[in-house]
Amino acid sequence: MIAKSFLVQKFAKIPLGAHTVIGYSVAGEETAVQIPELNVCFDIGRCPYFALTSDFLCISHGHMDHIAGLPYYLSQRFFQGMKGGTVFLPRELQQPVDAMIRTWRQIERQNTPYTLVPMEPGQLHEVRRDFGIRALATHHGGGSLGYAIISIREKLKQEFFGKPGHELAQLRKQGVEIQYRTEVPLVAFLGDTSAGPVFDQPDVQNAEILLTEITFFDPDHKQKAKAGKHLHLDGFVQLLPKLNNKWIVITHVTRRTAIHRARRALAKRVGEEQMRRILFLMDFEGAREAGEIDEVGPPIADTAE
Ligand SMILES: [Zn+2]
Ligand SMILES: [Zn+2]
Repeated sequence: MIAKSFLVQKFAKIPLGAHTVIGYSVAGEETAVQIPELNVCFDIGRCPYFALTSDFLCISHGHMDHIAGLPYYLSQRFFQGMKGGTVFLPRELQQPVDAMIRTWRQIERQNTPYTLVPMEPGQLHEVRRDFGIRALATHHGGGSLGYAIISIREKLKQEFFGKPGHELAQLRKQGVEIQYRTEVPLVAFLGDTSAGPVFDQPDVQNAEILLTEITFFDPDHKQKAKAGKHLHLDGFVQLLPKLNNKWIVITHVTRRTAIHRARRALAKRVGEEQMRRILFLMDFEGAREAGEIDEVGPPIADTAE
C-alpha cells in the first residue's frame, strides 16, 4: 500500500481580486508563496514545482525551510530552457549564497545562469517602469527582509487636466513636469518575523494583500515565539488594528497547532467580522494537519525555523 500523502504534494491556491496566492508554508518544514500574476515567488522552500515558473524570487532569510530549494530552482529552470532566475536576498546572504551556487555549478558540471540582487532595508528595485520590489527590515535576526511589490504609476498633475495631447507633448518637450509618481503596494510578504517596526511601514499596512507569519498560537508557546523571533497570536492581535489590508494571509503555522484550532483561537480574539479578511494559507482540503506528522517522521525538533 502506498501512503497517499507521498503521492502529490498539495498546495494552496487562493484567488484574491486581481491576484492569486499559490503556496505552501509550515514552520520548520517549507515556505514558498507565489503570486503568478506578478511573476514573483517569495521564498523557495524545497522548490515545490509551482515555484519554477516565477522569474523573480525574493528570499527573506537563510533558514533552510525558506531557501533549501534555491539551487534546484535555478538548475531546473535551466534544464527546462527557461531564462535564469533573478533572486533578491538580504545583502548579508549574497556572498555565501553565491559561493553555494558556484559550488553547485561544479557539482553539476553545468553553467547554470543566475542573477543575485542584494537588498538593503528600504531599498526599492525598479524591475520595470511600472513595477518595483522594496525590501523591508523584519525582526528575525541575521538581516532578515520582507518584500513589498509596488505598482508605480505616473499620473497627470491636476493643473493639466483637460489640456489637449499636443499641448501636453509641447510642455513635456519644454521640460515641464506634467506628471507625478504614485506608488501602490500590491502585496507584502514578511517571511519570518516577530512583532516590531516593520508593521509600521506604510507598504505593510496598506498592501492589498499582506502575507504574514503567525507561527505560534498556544499560550504555552509564547516562550518559543520569543526565542525563535516569531509572531505569537497575542502579538498579532495587538498589531491587527493598524493593518488596513484588504486581505491578510497567515503563513508559517507550526505543526504543533492544527489549522482549524489556530483559526478558532484567532476568531475568538478578533471576531468574525475581522476573519472575513483573514485567511490561513494552509486551510485547504487535503492539507496535512498537526499530529499526522507523527506517523511519517521523527518528533518535531526545536531547531531554527
Ligand atoms: Zn521559517
Ligand atoms: Zn526562520
